[in-house]
Amino acid sequence: MEKKIDVELNAVRKTFGSNVVVDNFDLKIEQGECISFLGPSGCGKTTTLNMIAGFLDPDGGEISIKGKRMNGVPSNKRDLGMVFQTYSLFPHMTVAENVAYGLKLRKMPKAEIKDKVRKILELVKLPHVADRYPKQLSGGQRQRIAIARALVIEPSLLLLDEPLSNLDAKLREELRDELKRLHKETGVTTIFVTHDQEEALYLSDRIVVLDHGKVEQIGTPWDIYNRPASEFVHTFIGKSNRLPGTVRGSANGGMAVQTDAGFVLEAFADGRTFTTGESVVAYVRPEKIRLTESGALADTVRAAGTIRQLSFLGSFVECEVEVGSALVTVRMQMQDGLADYTAGRQVGLTWNPKDVFVFPRKEQ
Ligand code: ATP
Repeated sequence: MEKKIDVELNAVRKTFGSNVVVDNFDLKIEQGECISFLGPSGCGKTTTLNMIAGFLDPDGGEISIKGKRMNGVPSNKRDLGMVFQTYSLFPHMTVAENVAYGLKLRKMPKAEIKDKVRKILELVKLPHVADRYPKQLSGGQRQRIAIARALVIEPSLLLLDEPLSNLDAKLREELRDELKRLHKETGVTTIFVTHDQEEALYLSDRIVVLDHGKVEQIGTPWDIYNRPASEFVHTFIGKSNRLPGTVRGSANGGMAVQTDAGFVLEAFADGRTFTTGESVVAYVRPEKIRLTESGALADTVRAAGTIRQLSFLGSFVECEVEVGSALVTVRMQMQDGLADYTAGRQVGLTWNPKDVFVFPRKEQ
C-alpha cells in the first residue's frame, strides 16, 4: 500500500535581499518518517524549517501539510510540535504547567489534561519532576520536557531544530537514543535539523543534505554514506582521504586513477562516466583501507608506504601512512598484531575498488 504523504515541498524558494537562501527545494515526507535536514552552517536548514513552521513565508513554491496548502497559514493553525536549540520552557511555570500549556490553549477538560501530562512525563521518563520549575532541572531534563511539551498535543508534525546542540557529548548521545525511542513509540512524522552527520545517520529514515540552499542529495543513511551523489556529500559525511589525480583508463567497469601523489588507485566507476585524461579527485575512507606486511599478498597490495604516525583512539588506531607524496589516513580496529605496526615501518595498503569514490575535479 502506498504511504500517505504528510509534508510536501514543491519548488520552495526563499531569498533575503539578493541572497538565495533556499532554492528550488522539492521534498515529499511520508507519514511517520523521521527526516533530517543536514548541512553546514548557513546552508538554509533553519530557514526551510521556519517556512514549514509558518514563521517565514516562501518567496516561491508551495508547502503542504497533510494535503493542505500551507502558504500564508499562521503557525498556530498548522498543528505542529516544535523543539528548539535553546530551552524554550516558561520559567515561571512548573514542568506540569509547561507541558499542559498547549492543551489548555486547546480548551481541553482539566482531568484529561492531567492524565495526558502524567502519561507524557512517563514517556520521557521524568514523572518525578512535574512540580519543579525549569531552573531546577538539568539541561538534558529541560530538553526532555520541551520534547514532552511538543508531543503532548499529538501534533501531526514534530519539528526539531538542533535540539541537542547545547548539551554535552554524553547527554547528547543519551537524548539521541531517547529521541529515537520516542519517534518509534509515537510514530509522529518528524523533521530534524542538524549539522551533525552522526546524529543524522543515527536518527533518520532519510536525510536531506543541503549546501548553499540547494538539495545535494535525499536518501537513506546507507545511500548517503555509500552512494554519495556528489563530492560535497561524501566529504560532509565522515572523514575521507582526498587524492587528486588523472583517469588513466578503464576496464571491467573499473578504472585506474593516477594520483598526483605518485601511485595508482583502482576504483569502480559506479555508473559515472569519465574519460581518459580527465582530472578527478578520488576518495577512500580511512576505515576502508587495510594495512598488510609490505611484501605479503603481492597481488592484493595496491600501494606501499611508510607509517609516519599512530594515534590511539580507544576502539581504533588511526595511522598516517606516507604513500608517494600523500599522507593517507588509515583506521585500524584494535586487533591482534596491531602492536607490530610502528612508526617508520614499511607497509602495504589494500582497498576494495568499490570503496573508492571518484568525482570530477573542480577548479579550485
Ligand atoms: P545554522 O546551522 O548556522 O543555523 P542554517 O543552515 O540553519 O545554519 P539558516 O539559518 O537557514 O542556515 O540561514 C541561511 C542563510 O540565510 C544564512 O546565510 C543566513 O545568514 C541567512 N539568513 C537567515 N535569516 C535571515 C534574515 N532574517 N535576514 C537575512 N538573512 C538571513
